[in-house]
Amino acid sequence: KITFTPIKPHGQKEMVGVIAILQDVTEEEKLDRQRKDFVANVSHELRTPLTTIKSYLEALEDGAIHDPDLSVRFLKVARQEADRMTRLINDLLHLSRLDAKQARFHKKAIHLREMLEDVVDRFSVQCKQKDISISLQILTSLTYVYADRDKMDQVLDNLVSNAVKYTPEGGKITIYARRRLNGMVEISIKDTGIGIPKKDLGRIFERFYRVDKARSRSMGGTGLGLAIAQEIVRAHEGEIWIDSEYQKGTTVSFTLPPCEPEVIG
Ligand code: ADP
Repeated sequence: KITFTPIKPHGQKEMVGVIAILQDVTEEEKLDRQRKDFVANVSHELRTPLTTIKSYLEALEDGAIHDPDLSVRFLKVARQEADRMTRLINDLLHLSRLDAKQARFHKKAIHLREMLEDVVDRFSVQCKQKDISISLQILTSLTYVYADRDKMDQVLDNLVSNAVKYTPEGGKITIYARRRLNGMVEISIKDTGIGIPKKDLGRIFERFYRVDKARSRSMGGTGLGLAIAQEIVRAHEGEIWIDSEYQKGTTVSFTLPPCEPEVIG
């Protein structure tokens, strides 16, 4: 935006100059657009399950309630949709606490191997059901990282659950931990899943951005998992990024600070 202000010295008719003010409004406009898109997205994401619940309840009222099989099916759908709304609201509350810097981080020495073995355990049943192998490769001798364990579990759960969601039966998930040259610890979750097209990669951490909305929804996704992971990683002074090859697989990596020996204990 450019604003021109004529300069006329007091009491004179003649204009002696012009002040031009250059203002970069692109960032402001971008933030404004993002805020509006966010509100529109939230409304849409909440209305979709509500519409489904309402239509199934109406069908029950219109007579389906007298058919025991149909009633069981319809009630199940309504409950699943209510569960989706709960997940979405929980994710939104979580994000808003992170945005407002109100989320409390209890950082301390966390045993790296233990944290990663626990996440593998949490997903082993789900992986077995889909015939996906899940394994861990720790390529560093470092024992501890400096992090908030609950928040880190949430990052790992979001990333590993994505890997499971977007990897077809018979696939493979590997979690790596290695030390980077700058000392940070890098954790990567690699899958042999459906991958992400190049054109979508740049926007994948945006709130509600999904490559395939219908697929994400049918998998129970809220479209906020990566955005939450990014906020938590940044609050640990780390970085998060994604490499992917469409129809080959995806690797999501993030860094965490190591724990210096004097902090332990
Ligand atoms: P969702 O709840 O939809 O999974 P996320 O924020 O966790 O939301 O991820 C955003 C989108 O990124 C997903 O909808 C999906 O399109 C893509 N994505 C994330 N992780 C993977 C992965 N491991 N493989 C393929 N696509 C992925």
